Amino acid sequence: MENFERLMGRRDLAPYLTPEQFEFRESVNRALAQHATPDYLRRHDEEKLFPRELVDLLGKQGWFAVTLPEEYGGVGGYMDMIGMLEVMGYHSSTLARYWNINVNMVGGALVQLAPPAIKQKLLPLLSEGKTFFSFALSENGSGSDAASLKTTAVRDGDDFIVNGTKMWITGAVQANHVLLACRTDKGEGKHEGISLLLVPNPTPGMQVRPIDLLGGHMVRSCEINFVDARVPAAQLIGDLHRGWTQLMGVLAKERIALAAIVVGAAQSALDLALGYAKERKQFGRSIASFQTISHRLVELQTQIDCARLLAYRGASLLASGQKCNVESAQAKFLAGDTYMKVALEGLQVMGANGYSMEYAMQRHFREAKVFQILGGTGEILRNIVAREMVG
Ligand SMILES: Cc1cc2nc3c(=O)[nH]c(=O)nc-3n(C[C@H](O)[C@H](O)[C@H](O)COP(=O)(O)OP(=O)(O)OC[C@H]3O[C@@H](n4cnc5c(N)ncnc54)[C@H](O)[C@@H]3O)c2cc1C
Repeated sequence: MENFERLMGRRDLAPYLTPEQFEFRESVNRALAQHATPDYLRRHDEEKLFPRELVDLLGKQGWFAVTLPEEYGGVGGYMDMIGMLEVMGYHSSTLARYWNINVNMVGGALVQLAPPAIKQKLLPLLSEGKTFFSFALSENGSGSDAASLKTTAVRDGDDFIVNGTKMWITGAVQANHVLLACRTDKGEGKHEGISLLLVPNPTPGMQVRPIDLLGGHMVRSCEINFVDARVPAAQLIGDLHRGWTQLMGVLAKERIALAAIVVGAAQSALDLALGYAKERKQFGRSIASFQTISHRLVELQTQIDCARLLAYRGASLLASGQKCNVESAQAKFLAGDTYMKVALEGLQVMGANGYSMEYAMQRHFREAKVFQILGGTGEILRNIVAREMVG
């Protein structure tokens, strides 16, 4: 923690964050250091308990309102969010991921695309942390190739009838609404004929089943099965059949936010290994004094610093309305690979204690892997950069 406090005022972020944004990060850090304690996180992870107290805390502090427009109770902009997510990721990448889905992804999509009545009803509740969302794009047969989704919504009078199965949907158990990507028309190609529906949860004909995963147990990922589920046509978000194009804006914002979360989480894992290496004595000296250990820690910190700068570079491009597909892909895959490496090597630095369930390194080890998969796998993100570089 001492190390992180030194990193809070990082000079390298001065081009990206204002003094007020640095202060904001400090207050997020103080609150989470107090409430998201190692014991709390370990118990909630082990017992697969939703972190209700932490979510309530974010709501009370007004942090679900960050990036939402002022008229709906919102405060702060995109860079406030990035600074906040890095700090939140330091304390819990799972909590930060949950925030990101609710506010940045679904909240952001509603701000851009929803009819006024839906915005007026739901966004003020979201800003207070009183209503929750999930985002349902992936299916069993369509992961990286998300546009090949098969869930259908067929118009029937004033409703759509939804059939199909979504997979891995984060936070669906708690969600009051699920933003569903579904096929409303055959279209010419797979990218056409997709629409977005905001499905109330529960809805008759809709069933949510949590799936057991390797990590991130505080917020369960779920299968959602729809059998003739009737959803009012008034819940259509954005233009009919044009959902894919409209989704692209949402996904670009997700990647940079994930990169910031992951950089924070990687720093947290490194700080744990560093603190341990300084304390742990073997052969009459601290293991940090062995060059093989200290050089390893130095290299990991350097890689985290690179990933952090890429995340803030992408965020500032996005915040200023510039295109940043390539930069956000680079930031996300470097951050994901860095976190995985820090967790792997940090665990080695901690020896048997790293492998023990009594230290947080095992949780980092389990949670790091997912960031090489969700929000675009490392391979898909490299494909995006390669298309620009080599055509
Ligand atoms: C914990 C968790 C939470 C999630 N939350 C959500 C959520 O809330 N909502 C949601 O919609 N989805 C969610 N997902 C799903 C996630 O977005 C997908 O897992 C991801 O898009 C990858 O799809 P896939 O797992 O089906 O892998 P696949 O697409 O089957 O890929 C398998 C492997 O093949 C590689 N591959 C595939 N195509 C190519 C290619 N063209 N070139 C090179 N390599 C390729 C991939 O990189 C990967 O290594 C979540 C997943 C996890 C694990």
